[in-house]
Amino acid sequence: MTLTNWSGNYAYRAPTVRHPRSVEELSEIVASSAHVRALGSRHSFNDLADGPGTLVALDGLPPSVRIDAGARTVTVSAGTRYGTLAQQLHEAGWALGNLASLPHISVAGAVATATHGSGDRSQNLAAAVSGLVLVGPDGSSRRVVRGDDDFAGSVVALGALGIAVEVSLDIEPTYDVAQEVHQDLPWETALANLDDVTSSAGSVSLFTDWRGSGIQQVWRKTRVSSSFAPRAEFYGSTPAAAQLHPLPGIDPVHTTAQLASPGPWHERLPHFRLDFTPSNGAELQTEYLVPRSSAVEALHAVRALSDQIAPLLQVSEIRTIAGDDLWLSTAFGGDHVGIHFTWRPLDDLVAALLPALAAALAPFAARPHWGKLFADGEGDLAHLYPRWDDFRSLVARTDPDGVFRNAFLERHGLSG
Ligand SMILES: Cc1cc2nc3c(=O)[nH]c(=O)nc-3n(C[C@H](O)[C@H](O)[C@H](O)COP(=O)(O)OP(=O)(O)OC[C@H]3O[C@@H](n4cnc5c(N)ncnc54)[C@H](O)[C@@H]3O)c2cc1C
Repeated sequence: MTLTNWSGNYAYRAPTVRHPRSVEELSEIVASSAHVRALGSRHSFNDLADGPGTLVALDGLPPSVRIDAGARTVTVSAGTRYGTLAQQLHEAGWALGNLASLPHISVAGAVATATHGSGDRSQNLAAAVSGLVLVGPDGSSRRVVRGDDDFAGSVVALGALGIAVEVSLDIEPTYDVAQEVHQDLPWETALANLDDVTSSAGSVSLFTDWRGSGIQQVWRKTRVSSSFAPRAEFYGSTPAAAQLHPLPGIDPVHTTAQLASPGPWHERLPHFRLDFTPSNGAELQTEYLVPRSSAVEALHAVRALSDQIAPLLQVSEIRTIAGDDLWLSTAFGGDHVGIHFTWRPLDDLVAALLPALAAALAPFAARPHWGKLFADGEGDLAHLYPRWDDFRSLVARTDPDGVFRNAFLERHGLSG
């Protein structure tokens, strides 16, 4: 049976998929294979995870969650889903600083692609990694920890440096979050007050279809303290009177609790609940990350394409991400704004539009999300990443025979 990614828009071409039951078995598979790629929870929309040889899924490895309260870290088996980890952390009195919109994704897969949530002070999920254990091309394991020379190149690594079997993440004491949704924020007000809007809560997401004069929904997630009070009015938008889904026509039962009711961090930071389908399911996704300083201009540039975008779109989401120093992170070097598109499953029409979107955002040094759809052949991504050549050298040193190489890495000049 053909194995596809989560959304079904991509069928993996690798001839073999293995589900090792132990790290030893995984090591043997890698050591005896000419080509191997790690497969996470298959939530990426392109061929990034695919390869010409064996795909290794980590869902058969023994689950493991080890909390080190003194070091304030948790070490997990790399295929663990954030939702599973979050429940165990919360029960033990701990939390992560941030989560993506869905809890269904694997830790290693999310980290490998610089997956992010939203928040002026929230870095992407990879920035919480304090160490990882990688199985290299000869099957041997090596640990890389924060502070090592190659660490900043080894976290957002697109699967090019080996198979992560263990990931350590920073943790903090558990906390509660309240989620408020406001409707119909006027575009002009949002753009004129963008810094105030995005700093008004720990995590802010703006959902728009680019039509009309208003941003349809503003989702704001606030860590609850004694001074927390829901906002009645918010820059001309009004509080939603009922639970909402960001996509029109979908039952809001899929979404995490809103209406300012406080609850555990992991039940509010994602938009979607672990036991329900995230987003729509029948969809494609694209996202560009632009430097914070260019955000307003970049949003104007996308709005200028609204007549082409809107017919193909389910919804767009605008988020903020704090900068980091991870070489291939889409937030490397400074704060960024993510402009995300959830498309209808119109593969050919979306593919035809992507070059125009890339061209509109190119003046702003926009970095495409590694795990989503973007126009191939739009040119060299190297100029967007100051440490690109260092990463290539790291790949060449770590994997000289190209065991972890695939078409995606070769196409983008990242195969060492
Ligand atoms: C409904 C939906 C909502 C989403 N929301 C967000 C969001 O809020 N924010 C955001 O930034 N992105 C979002 N994404 C994108 C998603 O987070 C990324 O595509 C992420 O990489 C998916 O993780 P995965 O485990 O499915 O990885 P996969 O898609 O399986 O793999 C992605 C990459 O990770 C590598 N990889 C996986 N496991 C390992 C391992 N053990 N060792 C080394 N490399 C490994 C693979 O080789 C591949 O290169 C969303 C996707 C979907 C479908």
